[in-house]
Amino acid sequence: MSATRDFDAGLAPYAALEARSRGRRHAEPPPQGRGEFQRDRDRIIHSNAFRRLAYKTQVFVNHEGDLYRTRVTHSIEVAQIARSIARTLRLNESLVEAIALAHDLGHTPFGHAGQDALHECMRDFGGFEHNLQSLRVVDELEERYAGFAGLNLTFECREGILKHCSAANAAALGEVGERFLTRTQPGLEAQLANLADEIAYNNHDVDDGIRAGFITLDELMAVRLVRRHVQSVDAQHPGLPGRRRVHETVRRMINEVVTDVIRASSERLAAAQPADIDAVRAHAGPLIGLGVAVRADHAELKAFLRERVYRHHRVLRMTAKARRVVGNLFQVFMDDIRLLPPEYCQAATQARQRDGAQGIARIVADYIAGMTDRYAILEHRRLFDPAART
Ligand code: MG
Repeated sequence: MSATRDFDAGLAPYAALEARSRGRRHAEPPPQGRGEFQRDRDRIIHSNAFRRLAYKTQVFVNHEGDLYRTRVTHSIEVAQIARSIARTLRLNESLVEAIALAHDLGHTPFGHAGQDALHECMRDFGGFEHNLQSLRVVDELEERYAGFAGLNLTFECREGILKHCSAANAAALGEVGERFLTRTQPGLEAQLANLADEIAYNNHDVDDGIRAGFITLDELMAVRLVRRHVQSVDAQHPGLPGRRRVHETVRRMINEVVTDVIRASSERLAAAQPADIDAVRAHAGPLIGLGVAVRADHAELKAFLRERVYRHHRVLRMTAKARRVVGNLFQVFMDDIRLLPPEYCQAATQARQRDGAQGIARIVADYIAGMTDRYAILEHRRLFDPAART
């Protein structure tokens, strides 16, 4: 019975429907007892890259404390927010979950600092974009299946993973890069996963920032979205102890923003009435989004976090270290590819024959981007500390 289940049942006509999927790059028999997008999600969860997210920095380095978000708990929070909204809007919950869990698979160690450092190293070799790297992970780098490299995900999932892309890179990607050249939209599930990413980090970074002692709830009273919820929490629960006051506030903030996405997106969808996913893609702008007022409040919170958390001297100090570690690793491998692990050295040798120095650089970037924070630190020690055991 399950093999004949209709996984599109109950979805809106403009959702990503399995029946209309553009399919996988390598043809495969349909999955048994689960849908195509569920299979995507399952493949992502079983990948090496997904497990590594547990040891990659979101904002706070993994070893600074057990309660901070890592890339994996961040990705799960993104999936949770995206799924709640998808269900209410009758979008494809399985697809949005798959995109959310995969969106950071290509992220370097040490958060944005690592990404910026690697991009700088790769300046003369085509650059480094973490969205593009996430796609490269699922398309090429994972080694799990006999019949193909990568995870062979559906087009709709790959489209969602590729959130941003430069025109030059898009041109080389074929079908999945087309929308960056034609300036069209991705499906609604991709739009939603993208927005849920932003909602997740804006809210969890309030919590993490307070935990780290970078900011206080009192200082956050300068931000409208926070202020109105602190005030309502205080009015309803005077004298609430610190952590509960913070968590009760943040949960109300998330609730307001999520409710606003549902309301504003429903209005836009009702006005545009896209017949199907192709009409969504051809629409003049994204149909999933925040309303005007909450968007402004969310932007205000984002600006506060940028100033007070992401540019905090302790974060900047970590950024400087990350830059050095990534920069040093890159240079040492570029100077002598024999220092790479054997399988990467072999890949670099082949890439050199094909693309010269640019080919080597891409393999070195793959190796570094795949590292967890602690692995990068260990590898750096092994290469630069003469007393380190090799
Ligand atoms: Mg993210």
